[in-house]
Amino acid sequence: MSLFNWSSIHTVLLDMDGTLLDLHYDSQFWLKYLPKRYAEQHGLSLEVAQTTLFSRYKDMLGTLEWYCVDYWSNELNMDIACLKEEVAHLIAIHPYVIEFLIFLRQNNKRIILVTNAHYKSLSLKMQRTQLAHHFDRIVCAHDLGLPKENIEFWEKLQKIEPFNPIHTLFIDDSLPVLRSAARYGINYLLSIYQPDSQSPPKDTEEFRAIRSFSQIIVI
Ligand SMILES: [Mg+2]
Repeated sequence: MSLFNWSSIHTVLLDMDGTLLDLHYDSQFWLKYLPKRYAEQHGLSLEVAQTTLFSRYKDMLGTLEWYCVDYWSNELNMDIACLKEEVAHLIAIHPYVIEFLIFLRQNNKRIILVTNAHYKSLSLKMQRTQLAHHFDRIVCAHDLGLPKENIEFWEKLQKIEPFNPIHTLFIDDSLPVLRSAARYGINYLLSIYQPDSQSPPKDTEEFRAIRSFSQIIVI
């Protein structure tokens, strides 16, 4: 399947959670494990803990704080980094990701991981997956002070990691993030049909999407 012409792509920007890694870990952590621990700490039922936490999550969606381990540790008075490690066995790489990264390297693409994840989550995930050496650079949105949903994120990224948007491919499972990249002018955008292997595929609306990275590896 030919989604685009690889020869016109020089830079590949890749999201981490839900794109290269199975979102199942994050969903389990935020929707099940953290509410369970929060319920224990406050003597609440799981249902009440979930209702309380989910409304607090909702208020922060799309902000950098939503992704910030320290923010939630302070807000909830819980050691989020430590709790994340307790379920770290669920961290998993999507199928054909390593083959895809090797394919990019063999074809001399500039490979950049671009994530909203906090550096504490990032380092836990890199430690578990051993993916870090596949990237030319890892950019954490917290270092730029803005999440990828904000168009100014791309301007700031451009300053530290110059790339030509016309010759750039960006793959991300988040539609608001892809829309912000589209507004900035990134030419090749792809989404992911099934960011969480345990949930049904999602509607990627105006964006083309892949079911597997094997679809875009050209041999
Ligand atoms: Mg993602």
